[in-house]
Amino acid sequence: MSTTLINPATEEAITTVPQADLEQTDAAIAAAAAAQEKWAALAPADRGRLLRRFAEVVDGHIDDLARLEVANAGHTIGNATWEAGNVRDVLMYYSAAPERLFGRQIPVAGGLDVTFKEPLGVVGVIVPWNFPMPIAGWGFAPALAAGNAVVLKPAEVTPLTAIRLGELALEAGLPEHVFTVIPGKGSVVGERFVTHPGVGKVCFTGSTAVGQGIMRGAADQIKRITLELGGKSANIVFADADIEAAAAAAPMAVFDNAGQDCCARSRILVEASAYDRFMSAFEEAVKGVVVADPSESATQMGPLVTKGQRDSVRSFVEDADEEVDVAFRGSAPDGAGWWYPPTVVMPRSTRDRVWHEEVFGPVVAVLPFADEAEAIAMANDTIYGLSGSIYTRDVGRAIRVSRGVQAGNLSVNSHSSVRYSTPFGGFKASGLGRELGPDAPDSFTEVKNVFIATD
Ligand code: NAD
Repeated sequence: MSTTLINPATEEAITTVPQADLEQTDAAIAAAAAAQEKWAALAPADRGRLLRRFAEVVDGHIDDLARLEVANAGHTIGNATWEAGNVRDVLMYYSAAPERLFGRQIPVAGGLDVTFKEPLGVVGVIVPWNFPMPIAGWGFAPALAAGNAVVLKPAEVTPLTAIRLGELALEAGLPEHVFTVIPGKGSVVGERFVTHPGVGKVCFTGSTAVGQGIMRGAADQIKRITLELGGKSANIVFADADIEAAAAAAPMAVFDNAGQDCCARSRILVEASAYDRFMSAFEEAVKGVVVADPSESATQMGPLVTKGQRDSVRSFVEDADEEVDVAFRGSAPDGAGWWYPPTVVMPRSTRDRVWHEEVFGPVVAVLPFADEAEAIAMANDTIYGLSGSIYTRDVGRAIRVSRGVQAGNLSVNSHSSVRYSTPFGGFKASGLGRELGPDAPDSFTEVKNVFIATD
């Protein structure tokens, strides 16, 4: 079995990639288990050195990796270059972890009590198509640093950069089978990570529905899991904010990566007294978004990843059973490619599908609110809780609202969500566990307590 990959901006076939079957997956897991023992037995400094070498090799291939992502996923060249650089940075950050995987010494009577952070063995990382490189790195870098071997399944439609990273790991000198990329179907390779007793943990990023299935499957073996799932994040703009700055920043907070971002601020809540001013500045900003060939450096937004994804996005606006009022739109190229213009809609109520379901495309819904309490209540009226933004000049309000919104990653007067040195993850149906930040390697270990009698 193999999959033909299509360039989303041109609809031209790029290449064909074989899909692993169950037997090949099992063989890769067995080889990873054997390699892991030697990897964990390496001196911590040597493991760190190899991860730094891996980072350096990635650094030497940033342009190739970025070009591959532009062709395979339709990411803009600017974004794809950042994404490849993120893999390098995450590897470099966690290359310090092997020598800092500290246990504790706990005072007890009659002896010495110490804890060790033991690797889990083989970790399965399952990656979605929206950020093929960064999401892979957030899983494999800390897992490897903690002494695990990693088997990684990229999404069916975007495997090329992950396959290349697997090759670069070998080029950097990582022992064979310590990091193995296995392209294949979710229902075959991904599910096998969940059912195989030799996989100690599954680190999954993707849709909430598939994540629920993984959680159910993991229960059979009490398998460790991390889940990074969907989002419907709110961008809350108070009237006391710098409205022009908030409106200028709002388009790329949702249209970046063509809205295919779990952290997309796809609901904008504007304090009623500033609504008209915000909308007029926002319209100008949305119309200015450059949607074009993703390989051009000036492009801000490319196409959607597949025709299926474009159809799904369109169904929220054009074929909806309920009427949706489009406030205004940006532009998109005609012709080949799965384009969809940046689109701003005004839901009739908070029950509208476009207000509460994840669109995962360049569509944002805007509603006014009356006061701080209503803004928090509206932001929290969702099953999700991944990220969000708060625009205000009032420091007290910024802190109150940040504490009030049930989400894992909030930013004030900014739309940033992910920094590799800070924890990332969701509340509620947006996930379970945290990635990145100083503690990520811990989540790929088991704590072992050892008591040594001295008497
Ligand atoms: P998806 O759930 O369809 O697929 C994700 C991955 O899981 C793919 O590799 C797929 O092959 C695999 N998979 C599918 N079925 C499986 C099964 N039964 N068992 C094991 N693996 C299986 O998601 P997608 O459409 O690729 O990605 C979009 C979703 O990902 C959105 O909902 C988005 O919000 C979410 N996402 C979340 C984060 C986060 O950090 N919270 C980041 C990026 C994307």
